Amino acid sequence: MEEEDYVFKVVVIGDSAVGKTQLLGRFTKDEFYLDSKSTIGIEFQTRTLLIGGKRVKAQIWDTAGQERYRAVTSAYYRGALGAMLVYDVTSRRSFLAAARWLADLRARADNSSIVVMLLGNKADLTNSRAVDSDEAAAFAEDQGLFFSEASALSGDNVEEAFLGLLKEIYGIV
Ligand code: GDP
Ligand code: MG
Repeated sequence: MEEEDYVFKVVVIGDSAVGKTQLLGRFTKDEFYLDSKSTIGIEFQTRTLLIGGKRVKAQIWDTAGQERYRAVTSAYYRGALGAMLVYDVTSRRSFLAAARWLADLRARADNSSIVVMLLGNKADLTNSRAVDSDEAAAFAEDQGLFFSEASALSGDNVEEAFLGLLKEIYGIV
């Protein structure tokens, strides 16, 4: 087994039920869990990939239910180089909560240059969309975040979003 050149810790945050666990499963195993009680209690999952010719191990942390208390512990953020801030494009409430998650992250993360991507999930649900891409993109730009939309269900753009975040981290380490 070759050793990796880098380990990047990335945390996934956002309200309960936005699809964080499913996104993680899609990116690390190319699976969507049909059992909807998919918070499996695992703290992180990993996937090793090549970026810029280097072996990068992405260690991606799941909240495992802590987000029900509307925040996570400082330990969750410790050492994180990146954050995937997820909302559900069919839920304005979850989008409005992203601002609170961002404030929590900025207050608790030990790394002030943490790279953050705002990710609108459930983009497959086109008939019940409640958050415009333009509005979310404007919020992201204003806050200095990268922005993307994806669907953990169809798999659309999940790979690209995580890879985009990891490449941005790679660019600053
Ligand atoms: P978490 O609480 O943020 O970890 O959310 P989960 O990953 O457990 O997903 C919450 C619910 O949304 C589950 O019923 C999932 O099947 C569903 N879900 C997650 N991602 C998607 C998606 O991209 N599209 C659709 N239509 N449903 C999704
Ligand atoms: Mg979950």
